[in-house]
Amino acid sequence: MSTTQESPRVALVTGAAQGIGKGIALRLAADGLDVAVNDIGANGDQLKTLAEEIESMGRRSTAIEADVSDPAAVQAMVDRVAADLGRLDVAVANAGIADVKPLLETTPEEFDHLMSINLRGVYLCYTAAAKQMIKQGGGGKIIGAASIVAYRPFALLGPYSASKWAVRGLTQAAAMEWAQHNITVNAYCPGIVGTAMWDHIDEELAKHEGLRKGAAIEKHSELIHLGRVSVPEDVAAFVSYLASKDSDYMTGQSVMIDGGIQFS
Ligand code: NAD
Repeated sequence: MSTTQESPRVALVTGAAQGIGKGIALRLAADGLDVAVNDIGANGDQLKTLAEEIESMGRRSTAIEADVSDPAAVQAMVDRVAADLGRLDVAVANAGIADVKPLLETTPEEFDHLMSINLRGVYLCYTAAAKQMIKQGGGGKIIGAASIVAYRPFALLGPYSASKWAVRGLTQAAAMEWAQHNITVNAYCPGIVGTAMWDHIDEELAKHEGLRKGAAIEKHSELIHLGRVSVPEDVAAFVSYLASKDSDYMTGQSVMIDGGIQFS
């Protein structure tokens, strides 16, 4: 990658106000990168606090409110990273949402809304980041949020599973097209991570399956070979590797980091 010791590498993490994205942003800052953080306006205060925390670690940061499903907003976000922090070396398209509903009750509008964030949002972040990296002379790491459902769909998470399966395909196609620019593209596929998203999934699964709250997570946790639900730091450690030189020969991969979940 074309960086010098004088200019630290710069990362952008979307959906970083909480959960996995926040864990990734803090890990990349601890790794010595300057880190721009993004989320939607509703989480603006949390985002600013995170940027301050990164600055307190001796790294530069900038908090950018933008909806990743909006092409103009995503372009403006990447332009702002380049303007505020000088360049873009690592882009993590982490933002995502989950809906729990039977397919027969899902409306086309709900389907489109989920896809606009989980798939189009990733496509917009991938392409805007790649354009910036190519403009800089090439080299870079693009990383996306997929999920174990990119390999093994969950019932009641149909559109979500489809979106993550598609992120896996997009990641592979982007890796093929941008290898000539020395840009690698990989995705992480978490299993069950104890975040606000999983709380929401757990609550909705419980409703649909007639279980008490907490029962769905207990039921699914029994399938994890390593015996515990994961934490954002587990995923962030893998993203740290994907963002580092150590993964320079790896591209087009969507890797499960799930504690060894077995569905039967
Ligand atoms: P989370 O809900 O805790 O955090 C997601 C963040 O994305 C939130 O801060 C939210 O405001 C932000 N966001 C949502 N829509 C956005 C938009 N349009 N533009 C910008 N930001 C937006 O979720 P999480 O558990 O931290 O998940 C992070 C990623 O990991 C998601 O893509 C999710 O699908 C994926 N994932 C999570 C799990 C899990 O078990 N938690 C498992 C597999 C994959």
